[in-house]
Amino acid sequence: MSDIQTYAQTNAPAKTGKIMLVGLGPGAVEHMTGRARAAIAEADTIIGYVTYVRLVADLIDGKEVIKKSMTEELDRAIEALDRAKQGKKVALISSGDAGVYGMAGPTFEVLFQAGWTPDSDIEVEIVPGASALNTCAALVGAPLTHDFCAISLSDLLTPWPTIARRLDAVAYSDFVVALYNPKSGRRTRQIQEAQRIFLRHRDPNTPVAIVKSAFRPKQRLEFTTLEKMAEADIGMLSTVLIGNSNTFIQGGLMVTPRGYANKYDVAEGERSTKGGEQAGRSLSTGLNGWLEAIRESGKSAAELAVEYRLPEDYIAAALAAGPEEDIAESAEAEA
Ligand code: SAH
Repeated sequence: MSDIQTYAQTNAPAKTGKIMLVGLGPGAVEHMTGRARAAIAEADTIIGYVTYVRLVADLIDGKEVIKKSMTEELDRAIEALDRAKQGKKVALISSGDAGVYGMAGPTFEVLFQAGWTPDSDIEVEIVPGASALNTCAALVGAPLTHDFCAISLSDLLTPWPTIARRLDAVAYSDFVVALYNPKSGRRTRQIQEAQRIFLRHRDPNTPVAIVKSAFRPKQRLEFTTLEKMAEADIGMLSTVLIGNSNTFIQGGLMVTPRGYANKYDVAEGERSTKGGEQAGRSLSTGLNGWLEAIRESGKSAAELAVEYRLPEDYIAAALAAGPEEDIAESAEAEA
């Protein structure tokens, strides 16, 4: 029996409608992916915020277009489901990536509430796009080359204490941070509070870049410092990038070093490893080296906790695990 017959006999419903969650990137046609454009071309119905619908104007001739305002995310998802149930292919379009503060989450919430499962007859495809943090970073240099995170300052759906706690944690732990939704006509104090929290942990001279309307006609870049950031021109279409303690600005570029200076000396174009370090191996202060050092220090977990700003119970547990648990330093080279 052929697979097709088996399929027909089990009466599995053929996929009928389709919902495509399409990230358009920052807002320039050149930065849209091939799949994003193809998904829009393939769709019968396009649903999205007016500005983004305009970006794909050349692809939507003859299609049903449902323009929605910013605040109607759930309505957009409900409408998409409705059309898909009728067997239509629907493209829900978002700026950047649809999964980053975009339509992907609310759409799945609506789908699951309606009893949808991945096996049901409506197919869902998520088409990734370059998010604001990627595109804004590309415009200012290389600010995200080390650990970073994104925080939205929008308190429309998230309580302020939750946002403040996250700001505090990442400021303390020296992440590079991309602030989404930093300010709007009505939300002007959030960015000041973010600055206040950051200044508790970070140097006032920490570099900050503010990118407005990346890859759009009104694009604007501004470099400033943590101390002065709240005075800058920030709006709904800005992303604020705050550096970590190693980030610097040089020649009009914001750069976060990857950490090569911890391992190599570079002089006159020649590269040599620093004493005690080996190419392709963890740093001497990497996990195994560090464990050895704290073990040999003879210090208590409490003392070490203060020294390394780590929880005492973690240090105690790591010490208690003993050297036999050290993962034999694999010879694998790190990229
Ligand atoms: N899904 C989008 C984010 C939507 S939230 C993405 O992945 O990029 C809206 C926020 O995104 C804005 O307040 C701003 O902080 C940021 N943003 C979106 N497009 C931008 C652009 N072209 N330039 C700068 N920031 C942008």
